[in-house]
Amino acid sequence: MSAEIRLYNTKSRQIENFKPIIPNEVGIYSCGPTVYHYAHIGNLRAYVFADVLRRLFVSARYTVKHIINITDVGHLTGDDDTGEDKLQKGARREGKSAWDIADFYTKAFMKDIDALGIPTKEYIFPRATDHINEQIALIKTLIEKGHAYTITDGIYFDTNTFPAYAEFAHLDVEGLKSGARVEENKEKKNITDFALWKFSPVNEDSTGIDRRQMEWDTPWGKGFPGWHLECSAMSMKYLGQHFDVHTGGIDHIPVHHTNEIAQSESAIGEPFVNYWLHTNFLNDATGKMSKSNEEFLTLSTLIEKGYNPLAYRYLLLTTHYRKEITFTFEALDAATVAYKKLWDWCGEHINVSGMVNDDYKQKFLNALYDDVGTSSAIAEIWTLMKDTSILDNDKYATLLYMSSVLGLQLHLSKKEELDIPERVQILLDARGVARTEKNWNESDRLRDELENLGYLVKDTDKGQEITVK
Ligand code: AMP
Ligand code: ZN
Repeated sequence: MSAEIRLYNTKSRQIENFKPIIPNEVGIYSCGPTVYHYAHIGNLRAYVFADVLRRLFVSARYTVKHIINITDVGHLTGDDDTGEDKLQKGARREGKSAWDIADFYTKAFMKDIDALGIPTKEYIFPRATDHINEQIALIKTLIEKGHAYTITDGIYFDTNTFPAYAEFAHLDVEGLKSGARVEENKEKKNITDFALWKFSPVNEDSTGIDRRQMEWDTPWGKGFPGWHLECSAMSMKYLGQHFDVHTGGIDHIPVHHTNEIAQSESAIGEPFVNYWLHTNFLNDATGKMSKSNEEFLTLSTLIEKGYNPLAYRYLLLTTHYRKEITFTFEALDAATVAYKKLWDWCGEHINVSGMVNDDYKQKFLNALYDDVGTSSAIAEIWTLMKDTSILDNDKYATLLYMSSVLGLQLHLSKKEELDIPERVQILLDARGVARTEKNWNESDRLRDELENLGYLVKDTDKGQEITVK
């Protein structure tokens, strides 16, 4: 039986007990990066959260299938289907092709999340440009079911055909109408209608410099998919039409996710996602960090300044995901000191074989299972560290368990400390063989030889443990 997990569901605006569609399995889709620039450290908060969520489900013995998509086409500079494709913008900025831009920033993203302790092998990263057929199929269904219509610049979803449209975001559609901007597309039937497919502009630029580089043929005309459509098509392809959890930043609630729900549920005729989870923003002193503002902080900048990316991960986890964070270097310095304290303590207590303390484990998991309470879970870590009634070896085992669930990578402190030379490993392995053969003389001889090389070997019920003399 999996343990009870409670999550705040944006859909109901309540904390709910999590119930999987298939027992002990969970499908998660996290809206991924738009790869026209480096991710800023605010964007990365969304993926650190997604990774803790995955680990939390693993700790509760769920089998997790987790998707993070790569948006490499169709995300326009205005979320309301106006403006330029961000990939085109990136291509012009750097004098490269849109395809090269996508490739370059996808790799940069992978490097960033890897440094943050997000194991890329545990995820599937589908690219929007690799799923054009699935998107075209979805448009076909929506046209057949009477949810879409064509105007001069594209095919649009008719939000009037989905009565629950405003519910998810508590949208004030009437208010939106009265506040509509003058340049709003006059051909749209409703102000909230959104593009499923946009036609490539014709004769827009005779020099060809700004011609679209990413476009595909469809029965309706050459063009490119709408950003919202990509996420519906890819999530349903990998997780099934109806799946458990969808995550993203809070900025996605009113437009991107509302539109995903409208088009998906209209196409499949049943609920699309059971639990919607949204991370709050990370701001800096000047306000919300954003990629369109050229002055944003990247993880590489933090690394260049000498910070450990895992200390940044630790910093993020000290605040609950639904609360805003104001980033300051003072806060990162404090997180660095705290993280280093744990790291050094682990480094000093390597090779101590202990037992995970069940009491602390339960309190730690209760904090996490209560709507991903990472800040309370971290508080449990420090209570444990100060508890003199827990033996160091048990403390070490418990800390390593907590670290693995939060992805703090404290086990690596061990690897760094115990980078033993190949010759020492060979002698250690030979001693292991001698012991299984009950050749005690040879085993003792090898122990002496290792000691002469500066290593102490201890036999425990888990096997040999080696420490530096
Ligand atoms: P993008 O690459 O712009 O498509 O955004 C990737 C993710 O970052 C999305 O889930 C956004 O909601 C999220 N996001 C954007 N800006 C911020 C911010 N300042 N703080 C936290 N998350 C953000
Ligand atoms: Zn998305």
